[in-house]
Amino acid sequence: QADVAMYAAKAAGKNRVQFFSPALLQLDDRAAAEAELRAAVADGQLVLAYQPVVSAVDGRCTAVEALVRWHHPVRGLLGPDEFLGLAEETGAVLELGEWVLRSACADAAGWDDGSTPVALHVNASPVQLAHPQFVDLVRAALAGTGLAADRLVVEVTETTVLDSPAVSATLDELVGLGVGVALDDFGTGYSALTTLRSLPIGIVKIDKSFVAGALTRTADAAVVEAIVQMAGRLGLATVAEGVESAEQEAFLRMAGITALQGFRYLRPAPVAEFGRWLAGNRRPASDGELTP
Ligand code: C2E
Ligand code: MG
Ligand code: MG
Ligand code: MG
Repeated sequence: QADVAMYAAKAAGKNRVQFFSPALLQLDDRAAAEAELRAAVADGQLVLAYQPVVSAVDGRCTAVEALVRWHHPVRGLLGPDEFLGLAEETGAVLELGEWVLRSACADAAGWDDGSTPVALHVNASPVQLAHPQFVDLVRAALAGTGLAADRLVVEVTETTVLDSPAVSATLDELVGLGVGVALDDFGTGYSALTTLRSLPIGIVKIDKSFVAGALTRTADAAVVEAIVQMAGRLGLATVAEGVESAEQEAFLRMAGITALQGFRYLRPAPVAEFGRWLAGNRRPASDGELTP
């Protein structure tokens, strides 16, 4: 447990909102909340919502992101912003993250139908990335579910841990397995440009705050255009997050974005609902430039 606490302390992102701040919660409440969270993982109270990523060229589904929710017995359905802070501070995010990875890989392995495959994006917390067994966990999740390594993309956010040699080595190992790496919430962190150059990142996800402002604020539009151009020059794909309107989509296509994600296509949905949506939005094998 001491090592878990150390990783948590070392790796907890500085720019993340800590909902369960130690200053706000009494120690007993914190301990109770932590126990509750660990029990939730074990008792099957966590669920995954799936949100597609669609190609800016043909509108077809190219990927899907797994997003965790907690069906709390008393407080109802909780979003990640309501419990991830505590999970990271206490190290419970390691159990949570393992559950997410295994469950999402198992679901994604079931979506293969012989047409072009859809990549699965899973978010990884800085605490998970800093854990020495993270690559082993990914390897085990792939082997246990039969999902091919090149179908998995790990989404990481810009935090201080990305600068560490150990995390950089972890990302290199993932890429060595065939797993992709996406930089999430791009533009909101720090050291963005050096991160893109020094880490094996293949996909840049432009934070939804820039997409939300792109039509009304010239500064936001300029940031989006600059990120897309720079990523293109570096050979990276770009995904716009939080696309809600046809006007936003038109602007992003004009800017040269690779792919789009947001409520406009599908709100994060339970696995069965996503599966139905996917059946009507998959790219047929014959026109796909991606091959298994
Ligand atoms: P994220 O990875 O950047 O995920 C995108 C967030 O934007 C999701 O919030 C999604 O529901 C929301 N979103 C999608 N489309 C739209 C849109 O059109 N408009 C708006 N306003 N929002 C949209 P969610 O599900 O609450 O997740 C919040 C964050 O929690 C995620 O941000 C991610 O950083 C983290 N997270 C979620 N699941 C996991 C997980 O399994 N593990 C870890 N470590 N973090 C997770
Ligand atoms: Mg993400
Ligand atoms: Mg994001
Ligand atoms: Mg986010």
